[in-house]
This record gives sequence, structure tokens and C-alpha cells, in this order.
Amino acid sequence: MRYAIDLHSHSTCSDGVLSPTALVERAAARGVTQLALTDHDTTAGIEEARNAGQGCGVQIIEGVEISAWHGQEVHMLGYFVRPETPSVHAVLERQSTGRLDRVREIGARLDRLGMSIDIDAVIESAAGNVGRPHVARALIAAGHVPDFEAAFARLLKKGAAAYIPASRLTATHAIRVIHEAGGAAVIAHPGVENVGDLEALVECGLDGVEAHHPAHHPGLVSKYATFARKHGLVATGGSDFHAPGGRVDLGDRGVPTEALEALRARTRGC
Ligand code: AMP
Ligand code: FE
Ligand code: FE
Ligand code: ZN
Repeated sequence: MRYAIDLHSHSTCSDGVLSPTALVERAAARGVTQLALTDHDTTAGIEEARNAGQGCGVQIIEGVEISAWHGQEVHMLGYFVRPETPSVHAVLERQSTGRLDRVREIGARLDRLGMSIDIDAVIESAAGNVGRPHVARALIAAGHVPDFEAAFARLLKKGAAAYIPASRLTATHAIRVIHEAGGAAVIAHPGVENVGDLEALVECGLDGVEAHHPAHHPGLVSKYATFARKHGLVATGGSDFHAPGGRVDLGDRGVPTEALEALRARTRGC
């Protein structure tokens, strides 16, 4: 099954490996006609993506994936956000700075573990917001780990030796900021973290739940689709594409037109 609407993707503006232009061109080649660019804590790639989309018939939905805290690290997707809104701008700036501090702390941990990498070079190499995947690539290049999965499993995932928690922006604050920018807020891949107390987020105005995600097996898709229906939320989905050659590609997950329209209908439009 290939979808024409994919609501989750990353570019070099965060931890994806394709530039916004290359990403959009790949989407077009795969039959995706509406693509949400949802880089981690930044909207910097939207304009380039939109320009590229005009040339190849892909409509870009402005998105962002905000790292937040809800008893644990969670990701909050914002759609149709107006990035020039001062409160969003300020929050994303703070998140970007926090990412630098976090990666430096991870670097210090790695030093202590005898797995040093040049963390300044890692930061320099990131075209946009730096994150753990950039560190993972440097660990592979330095020969400290064999592959990406090992980098996370041994060192970078929650609870591992070089793990440092990210932003302490609360999930409810993230929802508020997304709404202030006229957008709709969707909890990303809740089955990955097994996010607890989703009801509290519903009370704060959560608009949707990302039910269709590559890391969700059919049981989780149905669990979160049912949750969305019960609470009158939109069940969304996307490929969470980061790089060619991985397990999923653009359009492998997505939504029907009605879901996108339901999401748009929930925006404040102000
Ligand atoms: P960060 O933004 O620094 O918190 O890194 C989060 C990103 O790391 C996610 O969006 C994924 O791209 C990647 N990631 C997180 N956990 C894993 C994992 N266990 N294996 C591979 N990649 C992961
Ligand atoms: Fe990512
Ligand atoms: Fe995510
Ligand atoms: Zn993502």
C-alpha cells in the first residue's frame, strides 16, 4: 500500500539525510502528492521544500516535531503552524540551543566511556538541528560501533550509558504553542514510548494521534486508532522517513484525504 499523503518526514534541517529539495523530489517520484515536512524542533526547511514542491507537484504541509516531556521524552507533531509566530519561534530557538548542550553532554559521556568523537565536528556537520543520529553516524565513522542500531542500543537510547534526556518543555506547553501558531497538535508514535496518560493531553486540546507509524505493529495501529475515535481525535500517519535505504520510504505510511481534512478542520485558523 502506497499513500499519496505522508504526514511525517525529515530533512537535513534536522536528522534526515536528504535536503528538503531532494526529499520532495523523492516524494514526487514515489507518487506522494502531499507531504508534511516535520523536522525535529525546526521549520527551517519548509520554504525550500515548498519551492521544490512547486516544481514537481508536491504540496507541502508545514510541520514540526517538537521534543517534549510527558513523564518521559515524547514527540509532539505540529501541523499547519505559522512559524513566524513569536512564541513558536522562541520555543524552537530554545530547543535548538538545548540540542547543542545535550549533544555536548553526550560527547563528555562518550569521552568518559573511552569512545571519544569530535563533538564540535559533529555539530559543524549538521546542516540544521543536531541530534543523536548525528552522534550515531560519528560513532560508526570512528569505529566505536558497527552500525546505527548498535549506537542507539549500546550508547544513545533511553537508559543507555551516554543517554542524556532532551528538552524539559512539557507536552502540554508544546500543544499550547502549536495552537498559538494556528496549528493542530498530534502526539507522534505513542506506541514507541508507550506514552502514558494520553487523556491529560486530550484535556489540553490534543488534536490527533499518530496511529500509522512504521514502528507500530498492527495491534498498536488499531489501539491508537480506537483511542482517537473514542476521543474525537484525528488518527494520523506517516513514514517518519529519514534516509533512503532504510526499512521505510516516503508514502509507505500515510493517511487518506479525509484524515488530512479533519486535521485541517481542527486548526484554529487564526
Ligand atoms: P534526538 O532528536 O536527538 O532525541 O534523536 C531522536 C531521533 O533519533 C529519532 O527521531 C530517530 O531518528 C532516532 N532514534 C531514536 N531512537 C532510535 C533507535 N533506538 N534506533 C535508531 N534510531 C533512533
Ligand atoms: Fe529523527
Ligand atoms: Fe519522533
Ligand atoms: Zn520523526
